[in-house]
Amino acid sequence: MSDSLPLGACIGILGGGQLGRMLSVAASRLGLRCHIYDPAPNPPAGHVAERVTTAAWDDAEALRGFAASVDVITYEFENIPTATLDLLDSLRPVRPGRKALAVSQDRMTEKDFLSGLGLTTAPYRDVPDAAALRVGLDEIGTPAILKTRRLGYDGKGQARIMDPSQAEAAFAGMAGQEAILEGFVEFTHEISVIAARGVTGEVACYDPGENVHVEGILRTTTLPATLTPSQQMDAVLLAGRILNALEYVGVMGVELFVTAKGLVVNEIAPRVHNSGHWTQAGCAVDQFEQHIRAVAGWPLGNGARHVDVVMENLIGADMDRVPALARAADVQLHLYGKGEARPGRKMGHVNRIVRG
Ligand code: AMP
Repeated sequence: MSDSLPLGACIGILGGGQLGRMLSVAASRLGLRCHIYDPAPNPPAGHVAERVTTAAWDDAEALRGFAASVDVITYEFENIPTATLDLLDSLRPVRPGRKALAVSQDRMTEKDFLSGLGLTTAPYRDVPDAAALRVGLDEIGTPAILKTRRLGYDGKGQARIMDPSQAEAAFAGMAGQEAILEGFVEFTHEISVIAARGVTGEVACYDPGENVHVEGILRTTTLPATLTPSQQMDAVLLAGRILNALEYVGVMGVELFVTAKGLVVNEIAPRVHNSGHWTQAGCAVDQFEQHIRAVAGWPLGNGARHVDVVMENLIGADMDRVPALARAADVQLHLYGKGEARPGRKMGHVNRIVRG
């Protein structure tokens, strides 16, 4: 098939953090090469990729050189500037495609898309100004969460509003950025589905994992998640609908709230996802290999789970635990090669195999 990359082909990856690093390792295991593009010097992915370009997102000459050296372009984060994508898209296939990026770069567009598919999201309102926030709070009620429409991650750019009197301060906190108001979802727990779609439209979903966040940052993902069989089926089916609607190629993370009334979609990430790291220990083909297979036009691999796993992120000072973790049984250790273990910085993770 002409769309399938041959051995030795080169995959361009925008962003050189830990996700790009683990994608590069997966690609090299399949006999493919990687070229990383990142504005920051010495990115973690650069340690394991064949080539690195260190240049700004608006450096047209560097972007052209990068595109010329690769066969397909993918990315490890969704907030790539539009002008960068316009240029790259005209030179090489970008996978996942623009539709997925447009939807996931803006929380308002994302919510409209998801509810357009008939999926349940938190109630939401566009908040272009302070007056709209007051109206939105009247309609949605409190508690509610005000979020920036763009560029938020790990709970950043968000303000909880417990009472309408806090509206003004929350709006000021958005510092002029476009915002969206979300009603507070009374969830019992959070799960995510990591799902993949290949160039021929085949879809493969991993088992849903149960996520625990601390201070907005993912702490652990546990497999299996606490779900009824019908909730598990719903989660997987809705992920498939999202991928098909976007004509998606690659791996996606779909974050869901579990409520008494069913599943509520929180957000989608058009890339490999922190809550999918467990697949490295739990499946024959992990999310990184699956993503590389998809963007390379290869058949998807077997993502069936063969063991229970708890993934734990190593954040900041957790690095002090590495010597003990290295001695522990049934622990798969992943370190990202980052220099300074600053508070809140994801330095690595462990996949603990749980034997029943
Ligand atoms: P987000 O960046 O949108 O994924 O939000 C980070 C975390 O904040 C989520 O994982 C939830 O724990 C919480 N959160 C976000 N939106 C809502 C919501 N509408 N209702 C309840 N909790 C939320």
